[in-house]
Amino acid sequence: MSAGASKAVALDLADPLAGKRELFELPPGVIYLDGNSLGPPPKAAFAELEQTARHEWGEGLVRSWNDAGWWSLTDTLGDRVGRLIGAQAGQTVVTDSTSINVFKALHAALALRPNRQVILAERDSFPSDLYIAEGVAASRPGAELRLSADSTTLADMIDERTAVVLINHVDYRTGALRDMATLTRRAHRAGALVVWDLCHSVGVVSIEVDALDVDLAIGCTYKYLNGGPGAPAFIFANRRHHEGLAQPLSGWWAHAAPFAMESGYRPAAGIRRLLCGTQPILSLRALKAALDALEGVDVAAIRAKSLALTSFFMELVEPVCRDFDAHIITPRSDGRGSQVAIAHEQAYPVIQALIDRGVIGDFRAPDIMRFGFAPLYLSYRDVADAVSAIREVLASEAWRDARFSTRALVT
Ligand SMILES: *Cc1c(COP(=O)(O)O)cnc(C)c1O
Repeated sequence: MSAGASKAVALDLADPLAGKRELFELPPGVIYLDGNSLGPPPKAAFAELEQTARHEWGEGLVRSWNDAGWWSLTDTLGDRVGRLIGAQAGQTVVTDSTSINVFKALHAALALRPNRQVILAERDSFPSDLYIAEGVAASRPGAELRLSADSTTLADMIDERTAVVLINHVDYRTGALRDMATLTRRAHRAGALVVWDLCHSVGVVSIEVDALDVDLAIGCTYKYLNGGPGAPAFIFANRRHHEGLAQPLSGWWAHAAPFAMESGYRPAAGIRRLLCGTQPILSLRALKAALDALEGVDVAAIRAKSLALTSFFMELVEPVCRDFDAHIITPRSDGRGSQVAIAHEQAYPVIQALIDRGVIGDFRAPDIMRFGFAPLYLSYRDVADAVSAIREVLASEAWRDARFSTRALVT
């Protein structure tokens, strides 16, 4: 056994979260390092889907909107996600996609700052956030999107014209973690609001939106929360903004009296103003099972293991990088999320060759291999074995096989 593998065995024995792995369905022979893109199914999700489809839909039919609590899932699940980000109840709903929630959050922020016109974002943000910000700016006369080169210059660009700053808590490529406290304070001092995108931090980083007086936050539930492909996203709005919340997707779920069937829109009180229309109940129920798997687990314990897993990975992979002209671009400090990104000229075929060996990471253009470490189902032994596979693929040049160079539709 290599030194890395024996150290891994010792770390696994002392891991307080080791027992959580059995809650997840993972195929044998796979080391799954892509939970930051799509988390695996919690085993309980299958029974939950069966119950929802066969009994509640099949037998309860339309009655299940009341009897099975379907109508309230946006709120009940929202409060549970809220607990993971440090939000008191009544400020978070699970609904729509992250992209749609970015749209609603930016509009809401601009409406809360009617005398300001600038949306400030980082050039390296996840593209959909920027595309949506462009769309919001184009749809509001006078509104303007300004982009910064990075998060440091972003902070320096906040001024009296800034209505809202849109920022990714964790950079989806490098894995760098932004300082939520400092940036939020900085924006507030200038009279601006901040929309935090928590897609790559929710469930793996300790977040305290209430304590830091965060204005608005949005995020995915299909990454580290394991809600399933296309699971609805969440949106949080600080209670102190609720009275002035306005967003243009004013559908009937956001109406004060949805079943009064009035011809005019009257906004619901509170966070439900950020809803729009009917939600995918099957997907919400899969997410419920996923949140059950997190029940009773302290996010701080997850964060501690996340940092330990990524440290261990970097320690073992560093010499491999040195030998094969690859570079870790993720910060070594605690200022990182739960992934490690490695730049390598042949990143695409190397990732394909690794996937062929059962080590599933992903590729992000132009030259990044991205490895996500989800503490609930990964062991230190997985980390050591993944690094052995990386060394083997690079040393043998197995990635040169032509079948690893064909770009798939989804990378
Ligand atoms: C994954 C991710 C998204 C995805 O948005 P969808 O609307 O769910 O496709 C958006 N923003 C960030 C930062 C992400 O990481």
